[in-house]
Amino acid sequence: MKEEPAEICYNCKKNETNLRCQKCDELICYKCSISTPVGYRCTKCVSFNKLPMYKISNIKLIITLLCMMPISVLSGIISTILIPSMSYYNLISMIVCLVYGLVISQIIFYAINKIADNKRGKKLQCISLIAISMSLITRAYITNDFNIIINDINALIYAVTANLILWEKFK
Ligand SMILES: [Zn+2]
Ligand SMILES: [Zn+2]
Repeated sequence: MKEEPAEICYNCKKNETNLRCQKCDELICYKCSISTPVGYRCTKCVSFNKLPMYKISNIKLIITLLCMMPISVLSGIISTILIPSMSYYNLISMIVCLVYGLVISQIIFYAINKIADNKRGKKLQCISLIAISMSLITRAYITNDFNIIINDINALIYAVTANLILWEKFK
């Protein structure tokens, strides 16, 4: 009985193999293959097959980013009215900042969900980060204080709270 001659993996172009990707039928070695419930697949096919909830088009991303701008700016403006900027800790203002961060993260979460069709993933995590940063920049612009980390602890608490919540939510 003649054994089939081993061929070279198309991914690493190094290892000999007889294994083929179950989807695209390319030759892959064991090292370059990923075992899935439907058989061995090459890395390309696995990444193409990403869950739809993590797939988002670039146009949609840009639209989401643009739509977030007014919300970010507005949240920055409101923060200057509700939260005083100060360089020392104060329990009451800290609580106000936490609550404000919570409320803003909910609003941004809701808005991004609406615009980006309930998608998740790194790209949306970054958009939420940009949104909060824009809010901080607006606040810094109004209070004319760009040393947020040193002089504006309240803004920092608000921003960190909102960012942590949004980062988790869009995972
Ligand atoms: Zn290989
Ligand atoms: Zn494949």
